[in-house]
Amino acid sequence: MKVLVVGSGGREHALVWKIHQSTRVNKIFCAPGNAGIKRMAECVDISVTDVDALVAFAKEQEIDLTVIGPEMSLTVGVVDAFEKEGLRIFGPTRDAAILEGSKVFTKEFLKKYDIPTAQFKVFKDSKKAKKYIDKCGAPLVVKADGLAAGKGVIVASTVKEAKAAVDLIMRDKAFGEAGNKLIVEQCLTGEEASFIAFTDGKTVLPLPTSQDHKAAYEGDKGPNTGGMGAYSPAPVVTEKIADYVMEKVMLPTIQGMAAEGRPYKGMLYAGLMIDGDDVQVLEFNCRFGDPEAQPLLMRLKSDVVDIFEAVIDGRLDQVEMKIDPRPTVCVVMASGGYPGSYESGKVIRGLKKASDVTGVVVFHAGTDVRNGRVISAGGRVLGVTAVAKDLEKAIAAAYKATEMIEWTGSFYRTDIGAKALKKRME
Ligand code: ATP
Repeated sequence: MKVLVVGSGGREHALVWKIHQSTRVNKIFCAPGNAGIKRMAECVDISVTDVDALVAFAKEQEIDLTVIGPEMSLTVGVVDAFEKEGLRIFGPTRDAAILEGSKVFTKEFLKKYDIPTAQFKVFKDSKKAKKYIDKCGAPLVVKADGLAAGKGVIVASTVKEAKAAVDLIMRDKAFGEAGNKLIVEQCLTGEEASFIAFTDGKTVLPLPTSQDHKAAYEGDKGPNTGGMGAYSPAPVVTEKIADYVMEKVMLPTIQGMAAEGRPYKGMLYAGLMIDGDDVQVLEFNCRFGDPEAQPLLMRLKSDVVDIFEAVIDGRLDQVEMKIDPRPTVCVVMASGGYPGSYESGKVIRGLKKASDVTGVVVFHAGTDVRNGRVISAGGRVLGVTAVAKDLEKAIAAAYKATEMIEWTGSFYRTDIGAKALKKRME
């Protein structure tokens, strides 16, 4: 069969890598892809939000299955357009992807269905928002309603910072339309984890737990990024917590979305804050996490194409997912300056040597090819991912490979997985 993957990051390279292992697939396309994806798929120069061009391409090439990576494709309605044309596609419709596209919708949904989440209030008026901030006092979290590439959430430690966040979102329109409404939310403490599952709208099939590292620098310091590394499993999510999340978060969400007339199919990703036994939902994403997809897909032993099809056909209850019990770790290598401004076009060295390290796959994120050489072409450039018998060995293998790769200005966090090691010693 022919498969089209939409996206160009590390998540999409991991998807292509996993789909490539399927004996049922004989051709993969990726729109638009990257230098790593090019080795396994034919990359086509179509933007992830160009709905008409994606539909036309899928029809012309008689694509049997399309898999969406990034959220932007979902919120512009790629899935709806494909379904209208009778094309098979994995991902939620635009109505369902509102769980990621609107934080206001999601917070109100969580409240309505009694799903645990931080206290909040929604504002359309900046004066009222500031008055409420004065009343509550700091710390507080201020969130723009819509998508803002991870930048629309400001954790404010003072009242002044919280008010400045309101101005940034509403007066300066830093996130455009995404800031027409905002949320002022109670600030939670604890450890974050990702709970990611396949769902066909009835059955929820969870992948192993994982943890992202959002901050740019060691010790969770510095600005938030798209994610600087991830590992699986995340020991902070004990079996008891995982059961609780299934019962109190995932299933009520799927049932609630169906009741709202927004049936949900695809990946459902709950971003959680865990403090001892207390679990609160921070956010939902409607797709695989990036970088969580890299360590998770490395642990998935089943044919992922079978799972995608079971989701589309509503027979996920018949799927038995096989998971590699060994842990996996992904270290993201980024361009100097990221998540601020950075330079691209630097020649990357050591990729082959790094890939030869036992248990390692180097997933590409922001890369391109120039004169036959792989060059950096984005903020997050590579996701060096390793599997090994235990977590220490997986961390060691990932860093051994990471240290072999080099380009001018590259950097990475040196403490990916450290929290899991610490937790085990507690
Ligand atoms: P965007 O929509 O801009 O892409 P996002 O979807 O990444 O943002 P969230 O995941 O909701 O936004 O929040 C980003 C980060 O902010 C979280 O990972 C968490 O670290 C922090 N955060 C969000 N809400 C809270 C809260 N109530 N208490 C403490 N920290 C929070």
